[in-house]
Amino acid sequence: MFNQDTICALATAQGIGAIGVIRVSGPETFPIVNRIFKGKNLEKQASHTIHFGTIRDNQTIIDEVLVSLFKAPSSYTREDTIEISCHGSDFIIQKILKLILREGARLANPGEFTQRAFLNGQLDLAQAEAVADLIASDSEASHQTAINQIRGGFSKQIAQLREALIHFASLIELELDFGEEDVEFADRDDLRQLIFKIQQVLIPLIDSFEMGNVIKNGVPTVIAGKPNAGKSTLLNRLLNEEKAIVSDIAGTTRDVIEDELFIEGIRFRLIDTAGLRKTTDTIEAIGVERTLQQMDKASLIVYLFDASEIQLTEIAQQITEFNAPYILVGNKVDKLSATQKADFEATYPAILWISASENKNIEVLKDTLVRKVKTKEIKAGDTVVTNLRHYQHLLQTNGALENVLQGLDQSVTGDFLAQDIRFALHHLGEITGQITTDDLLANIFSKFCIGK
Ligand code: GDP
Repeated sequence: MFNQDTICALATAQGIGAIGVIRVSGPETFPIVNRIFKGKNLEKQASHTIHFGTIRDNQTIIDEVLVSLFKAPSSYTREDTIEISCHGSDFIIQKILKLILREGARLANPGEFTQRAFLNGQLDLAQAEAVADLIASDSEASHQTAINQIRGGFSKQIAQLREALIHFASLIELELDFGEEDVEFADRDDLRQLIFKIQQVLIPLIDSFEMGNVIKNGVPTVIAGKPNAGKSTLLNRLLNEEKAIVSDIAGTTRDVIEDELFIEGIRFRLIDTAGLRKTTDTIEAIGVERTLQQMDKASLIVYLFDASEIQLTEIAQQITEFNAPYILVGNKVDKLSATQKADFEATYPAILWISASENKNIEVLKDTLVRKVKTKEIKAGDTVVTNLRHYQHLLQTNGALENVLQGLDQSVTGDFLAQDIRFALHHLGEITGQITTDDLLANIFSKFCIGK
């Protein structure tokens, strides 16, 4: 156990609610709560039991409560823990917290319960970080990846690979001890095989980050096209259809107003280029410039054109300039004659023909949006990297392993190999927290809310 003091905090949201839960954790938890709780003697009760009683300030009853008891190591923090469920009034909660402080606990820092869970070996660092993701999850997909990660996710794989690599590192270090003598304890072919095996795990994880990022942060999607193509009509159609939570997010990195659209649990962040519509010919250049900027930020482009007006050859020329994956959409097919429409469809099967105002083929468009994102089908249970910190360490590890392979090809001496292997071990260790610094921990846990 790393911590000697007992901490407390409100674990539920601040403000009035039906109940509030106050969490107390640390070696003095039971004596502290026992002194303000009237009911059974809590120190004599079994772990994982719930008891009714009152919280009192001397003789004054503050509230009727339920207390849930968790004895070390069978708790989230692996310390003695009590959760007090009281009535959810700010007044009552503050009063109870003050009593707990008076009896010798201190207020928990943000994320301190989870930090203790990590330090006491309940969770590794990647799992602890997933707790924050779980709390922040706001879509089916982001929830699923966070849950997977908390339940082990790629932590176990990383830990196993690291073990195997440590074994090799120690053999090579042993060679170094023998100095001048030309001995090889570590079989070079075995080492090469091991690295290939590690890369088989590492590379899919690295590749999954793009998808993981999409799941966590949404897909920046631009609906582009000339004025009057029907962009606003389509946007409204998509948003209304999905009854999406339309929100204006003015974030630090998101300097444009966006709408959000959820399809099959994936969040599409629709970047608004509607402002461009008002651009007159004289300032068309600025408009084009702005569109291009928006498109640069996009992961997905829906390029819309008015099917009743455009020359199809024009479109073909424009497409090649898109950097991101795109969906080409011909709008206003309701204005075409039946034969015209059939002709278009037959000639350009890759183009999606819709009518935004008549609600034609909008479902197909939504399916296409999802398919474009799910380039790789992610099944429930697949491990997906969503955390930039993990991603960077995975890249560094892979880079170091590439160096080892190169070193093996060039038959470099053991000390060079050892150096790169140590580097790879270091980065693998940083993901799961086997190697940490105080700064790193402070940085990670300070992002948690108090009480978690
Ligand atoms: P934007 O400039 O690209 O945003 O285009 P708008 O959404 O403002 O649409 C321009 C005009 O085209 C409006 O008068 C719309 O009602 C009309 N419009 C949009 N979609 C369709 C469609 O599918 N069929 C027809 N006939 N008109 C459409």
